[in-house]
Amino acid sequence: MGSTEKENKDLRRALNLMSSKVERNQAILHSFFEMEIRLLGCNKLDELLDLILVEFREYFRLTSVNLILFDPENAARDLLEDYVPPQPGHSLRFVNNQRLLKSIFPEPELRVGELSTPLKKLAFPSTTYILSSALLPLVRHNCLIGSLHLGSNDPNRYSEHFDYDYIGHLASVIAVCIENCINQQNLKRLSIIDMLTKVNNRRSFDQEIIRELSRASRNNKPISCLFVDLDYFKLVNDNYGHQIGDKVLSSVGQLLKKSLRKTDFVARYGGEEFAILLPDCDSDKAANVADSLREKILRMIVHSNDNQPFRISSSIGVCSCEPALYDHASLDQLSHALLMAADKAVYKAKHNGRNRVEFSPLALPRPESQRNSA
Ligand code: GH3
Ligand code: MG
Ligand code: MG
Repeated sequence: MGSTEKENKDLRRALNLMSSKVERNQAILHSFFEMEIRLLGCNKLDELLDLILVEFREYFRLTSVNLILFDPENAARDLLEDYVPPQPGHSLRFVNNQRLLKSIFPEPELRVGELSTPLKKLAFPSTTYILSSALLPLVRHNCLIGSLHLGSNDPNRYSEHFDYDYIGHLASVIAVCIENCINQQNLKRLSIIDMLTKVNNRRSFDQEIIRELSRASRNNKPISCLFVDLDYFKLVNDNYGHQIGDKVLSSVGQLLKKSLRKTDFVARYGGEEFAILLPDCDSDKAANVADSLREKILRMIVHSNDNQPFRISSSIGVCSCEPALYDHASLDQLSHALLMAADKAVYKAKHNGRNRVEFSPLALPRPESQRNSA
């Protein structure tokens, strides 16, 4: 073989190698670009976490994906109350201070390659089979807000010799997306949540009742509304102080929320009054729910500042209706009538001795045509 021919052959080989590298890089860039678009499209934190923890693993063929979020004020955890992380255990962790993050990243820089055993335990506490990994610091405004760990059982998957600009870029996108989701959702949450009791506020109840009445009417389902008014609550403040009064309100709010279905809606409607919507619930079922709530409130033990135990009771008013029977009335009229009736029933309960449940019918006439048939 002449030297020119050999040179040509070598050149061709080099060219082939280069073009396959270019193709590989293009494919990687394309997959990162696709993922970036999906990350930016998430506007809820739980969706974003599912994307990072579940889909990243499949999409990038990883053995394990771990995420640590710096969440000093529980803002993320509050938003994720109902979120079940995809893998029980350690795929998602929250930290209140920066200690763990700082021990993973003495400098906030991407770490790739094989991990020392102690670092592996920190980064992948529940997965032993990680032979190479990329640890991505998530940084916003010069603060480490988290750490994302991509682990592989292939020792060559992440090595110090590769250029990982695109992973660094992905880390910046993820940090922005996490921060955005938390801020946006928190803002929305603040506008619909009562800060003392952490249940919905009156404004969101007034919006929800319209939505639920409309849904019940469309689906021909009953709906019930409960008003819960704490008995002699002024005395709680007078006897134990306003701070204890606040604690009672917050405990009752949480108790109500915990005791109801996910589809029910609890709101603090006024000072010591809670309003509850029970979709797809007729008056018999509502009576049971109301009585069980009354009992739970009665059984709840609260402690005063000097640790004295005491109890409180409640008066509950109930009104149930089938919104489809009132389709001549507007949703506003119907919601007003439902609230009025539940409120009237509370007065009846107070009048009849408190710590009891009373009912009141909807004070709204039904069209003539329906009166005989129902
Ligand atoms: P009743 O059995 O007739 O309902 O008696 P009550 O004392 O519960 O009713 P009343 O309407 O006379 O008093 C309500 C009390 O609720 C008075 C008010 O100080 C207290 N309250 C309202 N909002 C709050 C709050 O946010 N925190 C505290 N601690 N108390 C509150
Ligand atoms: Mg009241
Ligand atoms: Mg009261």
